[in-house]
Amino acid sequence: MLKSKKYIVFGSPYLSLLVCGIGAGDEVITTPLTFCATANTIIHSGAKPVFVDVDSETMNIDVKLIERAITKRTKAIMPVHLAGRPCEMDEIIKIAKKHRLVVIEDAAQALGSEYKGRKIGQIGDLTCFSFYVTKNIITGEGGMVATENKEFADKIKIYALHGMSKDAWKRYSDDGYRHYEVIFPGFKYNMTDMQASLGLHQLKRIAVFDKKRQKIWNLYNAAFKNLPVGLPAPISKEIHHNKHLYTLLIDKNKCGVSRDEFMQELHKRGVGTGVHFIPVHLHKYYRERFGYKPGDYPKAEYIGERTVSLPLSAKLTSPDVNRIIKAVREIILANKPKQK
Ligand SMILES: *Cc1c(COP(=O)(O)O)cnc(C)c1O
Repeated sequence: MLKSKKYIVFGSPYLSLLVCGIGAGDEVITTPLTFCATANTIIHSGAKPVFVDVDSETMNIDVKLIERAITKRTKAIMPVHLAGRPCEMDEIIKIAKKHRLVVIEDAAQALGSEYKGRKIGQIGDLTCFSFYVTKNIITGEGGMVATENKEFADKIKIYALHGMSKDAWKRYSDDGYRHYEVIFPGFKYNMTDMQASLGLHQLKRIAVFDKKRQKIWNLYNAAFKNLPVGLPAPISKEIHHNKHLYTLLIDKNKCGVSRDEFMQELHKRGVGTGVHFIPVHLHKYYRERFGYKPGDYPKAEYIGERTVSLPLSAKLTSPDVNRIIKAVREIILANKPKQK
């Protein structure tokens, strides 16, 4: 899947920040339109998350706004490929080079996505993937980091397993007992072999899953294109979008129902939905600790109030998809304000 010269290790964004030496007094730029984990890991490292508003079409960090958020303390940019749509990585890498920043991608939603012919995982300094139950490949829990940098990869491996010197996992091998040395107060962030075997099996089928997701995406687009809802932005030829999430924007003025009312109505019809995401800066901890407030990142907030993710998985059957489409159309058509 990824070019073999890349190092792929079990790991996390937190360990990525750590091996880059990012900590207290530093700042890391990211998007507010992400899962809290992205920003939480920055706080765990000791650094401050600095948000940059999103582009209203792609919903990803607006690269035109990044440079004005850079200060002497900025050490890294952490772009998030929301819904599986790659960020404008050429621009991000250019800015990072110019200001000597590292790029740590949150690719939790972007396994299999591509940007200008390169897989996500081959671009930034470190790229972090998740195999949580909602992702395109699922091992229950777990994740991996891809990097071109051997030192980063070696350190992440060690930090993820108690900080024991390299190959400590061989200490109970057939070659007999080996002493290890603790070279860092590490963590226990490893995945189990059982989980990894689940992931390896699915990895072989990723192209099949991708096609199924694409098909459902197209059915949704066709079924909703005449409704007064916001559809996902068209996908540019420069990227491959792994179709992790299919999101609609529900505006009460246009649809006659708010996003939350729409979700309730879908729930009544047996259709589960998600919100990706309430912008991180609006959460209590972030408001109180950093003084963030509504109005700080208007585009992320606009989307955060209206976005809803429909079911999308390679496991959905045609009857499932038809039922979801019918429910969405019914709710919107029943509530749509009459045209004057
Ligand atoms: C799911 C997700 C995460 C968290 O991944 P875990 O493996 O559950 O920790 C982080 N960032 C984004 C954008 C996600 O969607």
